Amino acid sequence: MSAALATPVLAANWKMNHGPTQARAFVAAFLARYTPRTDRTIVLVPPALSLATTRDALADRRDILLGIQNVHYEDKGAFTGESSAPMAADAGASLALVGHSERRHIFGERDEDTARKVAAALRAGLRPMLCVGETIDQRERGETEAVVLRQLRAGLAVVDASAFDRVLIAYEPVWAIGTGRTATPDDAATVHAVLHAALRERAGTDAIPVLYGGSVTAANAGALLAAPGVNGLLVGGASLDPESWTAIATTPVPAT
Ligand code: PEP
Repeated sequence: MSAALATPVLAANWKMNHGPTQARAFVAAFLARYTPRTDRTIVLVPPALSLATTRDALADRRDILLGIQNVHYEDKGAFTGESSAPMAADAGASLALVGHSERRHIFGERDEDTARKVAAALRAGLRPMLCVGETIDQRERGETEAVVLRQLRAGLAVVDASAFDRVLIAYEPVWAIGTGRTATPDDAATVHAVLHAALRERAGTDAIPVLYGGSVTAANAGALLAAPGVNGLLVGGASLDPESWTAIATTPVPAT
C-alpha cells in the first residue's frame, strides 16, 4: 500500500528546458519562496539529465517530489538514448509521466506503448501519471469522451488492482497544451467526471487523482482547481519561471 498523495497535486513539467545548471538555480529560487505544506503535493518533472541535480538541490526538502517525463518500457538493455524507470527511481524520481501528448503526437507513442510504460513505472516502484487528451479535430467531431476513455483503458490495461493506489491521471486536451487556450473549468469538469466514473468502474475507487493540464497559469489555476473532479494541475510553460510556478504552487485550495 502506498501512502495517498495530498491533493491537489501540482506538477511542473519542464519539458526540454532547464539543464542541470538552470535546474539548480530554479530550485534555489523556488525553495526561497515555498515553505512545506501538507495540504498539497508539489512535483517537479525536469528533463532526465537534470533529475539527479534537482534531487541534490532539493536536499532535505522531502515535501517536494520528483518525476521523469518519459521512461522506456524495458528496465535496461540496448535502447540507445532511452532512460528506464529503475534508473529514474535511482536518480530521485518517484513519479513518471506516461503518454504525454508530445510523446504521442511528436514521437508516435501508441496506446500499447503507454500500457507497457505504466507497467514499467509500477515495477520500478514509481507512480505513473498517465496523460490522456483529445485533439481539436476529435473535440469538434464530438469524440472527446471516446478518445480519453480509449487512452485511459488502454494505458491501464495491465494494472493490477493492488497498484491503483499509485496511479495518477492527467487530462490534457491537446489543443490546450502550449497554446494559451485553456479548457474552461466547466469543460474540464465534464471530462474529469467521465474519467472518474471510468476509474471507479476499473479500479473501484474514487481516490485516483485526475489532474488538468493545458495552458495553466497563475491567473487561471484557482478556477481550474475549483472545478469538480479536478484534483491537481500539470503545468508546462508557466512552471519554468520560479515566481510564476510559486504562484501556482501556492494557489489557495478550494473548500470541499
Ligand atoms: C504540459 O506540458 O503538460 C502542459 C500542460 O503544457 P502547458 O502548460 O505549456 O500548456
